[in-house]
Amino acid sequence: MELLGIDIGGSGIKGAVVNTRTGQLIGERYRIPTPKPADPEAVCAAIQLVISHFNWKGAVGCGFPTPLKQGKCLTEGNLHKSWKGVAVDALFTHRIGNKFTVINDADAAGIAESCFGAGKGQKGVVLIVTIGTGIGSSIFLDGKLLPNTELGHLLNKNGEIFENYASDGTRKRKDLPKKEWGKRLNKYFAHLQLILDPELIIVGGGASKKFDKLSEHFRIDTPIVAAKTQNEAGIIGAAMAASFSLACP
Ligand code: BGC
Repeated sequence: MELLGIDIGGSGIKGAVVNTRTGQLIGERYRIPTPKPADPEAVCAAIQLVISHFNWKGAVGCGFPTPLKQGKCLTEGNLHKSWKGVAVDALFTHRIGNKFTVINDADAAGIAESCFGAGKGQKGVVLIVTIGTGIGSSIFLDGKLLPNTELGHLLNKNGEIFENYASDGTRKRKDLPKKEWGKRLNKYFAHLQLILDPELIIVGGGASKKFDKLSEHFRIDTPIVAAKTQNEAGIIGAAMAASFSLACP
């Protein structure tokens, strides 16, 4: 099946048509900057641009950077405070017309990696951590997702959430050298290892492109690898989520 996947991030909104059987993108992906402020009005207009770019009439899967229950945004997240409580799937469908399936962006990235990437066929607990503007997480047990885990909100020793300590957004804001960023990420991964003891940690988001340089600073025992589908995991997983919801009556 071919579906449009859209990944709404803190700095960019990216879309591509995805073959949900193979996980491959069909043609080029299209990226526009996330509007500022990223309130519902502005994000709807941006999504409309992506839909028009592809002239897409069918169903759309959308990765959204907050936890969601049945399409409803549960927290303010990093986009804009007015998203809290909004039924995101219903809003997009109402404003744009296509059928939308909306899931947490890190859960989407995890689905892509479990089906087609570094987590494919892995047994036990696999943890996907997306490091971008924020820090997102998804946990899979024998390939089955536990949604909305929000492990970027764990606290470090200073009582600061790890997202504010080690995300790519923080690196940019504080102009952290790569070595310092790598060490901060190492502390985060060590904490995740302590509380979850997963079989594998997969790093997605913007940091997956810089993985080789960062991993020099990782000192954990758990195997840790970059997402195979890299920064496209969110797009692919969003399209996959839409395909699952189409398959269900
Ligand atoms: C949000 C998560 C999201 C992550 C990555 C965090 O701020 O709470 O839901 O997955 O950012 O976008």
